[in-house]
Amino acid sequence: MGSREKILIIDDSSVQADMLRMILESDYDITVAHTAGAGLHHAKVGNFSLVLLDVIMPGMDGFGLLCKLQEEVVTKHIPVILITSLRDAEYEERGLVLGAVDYITKPYQPPIVRARVNTHVKLYRYRSQLEHQSMVDPMTGLPNRRSYDLTCHGKWQEAIRFRQPISLCMFDIDRFKAYNDTFGHPAGDAVICSVAQMAATHLRRSTDFVARYGGEEFVAIVMGNSAKSAANQLKQICKAVENLHIPHAPKAGQWVTVSIGGVTVVPEMGDSYDTYLKIADTMLYDAKRFGRNQVVWSTTHMEELED
Ligand code: GH3
Ligand code: MG
Ligand code: MG
Repeated sequence: MGSREKILIIDDSSVQADMLRMILESDYDITVAHTAGAGLHHAKVGNFSLVLLDVIMPGMDGFGLLCKLQEEVVTKHIPVILITSLRDAEYEERGLVLGAVDYITKPYQPPIVRARVNTHVKLYRYRSQLEHQSMVDPMTGLPNRRSYDLTCHGKWQEAIRFRQPISLCMFDIDRFKAYNDTFGHPAGDAVICSVAQMAATHLRRSTDFVARYGGEEFVAIVMGNSAKSAANQLKQICKAVENLHIPHAPKAGQWVTVSIGGVTVVPEMGDSYDTYLKIADTMLYDAKRFGRNQVVWSTTHMEELED
């Protein structure tokens, strides 16, 4: 059985919260919070598919919390259903305008509560799947080009803000056209997957990022390392791909290999990401020119970036 969707109930009244819990707990994993503060904390860390939020609470009320939830990157996508009583009908409009997806009124009518909750959980699940699909390359399971485009500038800004080195790397499989011509496209796909997996295995820190850039090309971003250690890390990947010992096409080399170009920089405000990506690409071009199956790192700023 798959794991159940999680719902967060935020209500200062335990009696009311328990009633909701009883209506929903046969179908969902329920967490209850009795204050806005506790609710916000749970919402940030709990991976919920839906929040049921009481409008009237002492301290920060439901509207205040609704705004907070919508400001936070990690919670803003979670649908919120407001809980109102019949006499706060005017709040419903305000809540919906603020971005709640729906409301339910007290006293609860269990079939209506279930129906509304089911609908919004289903919509949320559907949307999450679409979002996931739009960011992941289905063949390799790596982040796709779109995901990379959305990620790289954030990383660049982060490096600027924390005055940290950032390394940009481009990979390309060597003489891959020959591989396809000899072994066929499906076999080529399997090689792309093996290379992707090898890159992902070596770049697994939470701050590392590797994506399929297109075709048989990959792009990686390594945060915080010196030029030397980033280049060494990429050399290990280069070696590891060769050590997979995937037989290559005749005249294309004994094994399938990759060429990698990279550059490390501590970027400053106003520096252009694209300029440095271009340097990485030029380094990749040099790696090809120098005979493939190697890593070429830009020596720009190399001295300042020693360990
Ligand atoms: P180089 O060492 O200079 O990179 O040579 P190359 O043959 O790898 O370079 P080229 O850019 O000429 O060819 C890339 C090949 O990659 C051509 C294309 O058929 C193949 N390719 C691109 N995407 C895919 C894919 O998704 N699956 C498979 N099987 N092949 C792909
Ligand atoms: Mg290529
Ligand atoms: Mg190639």
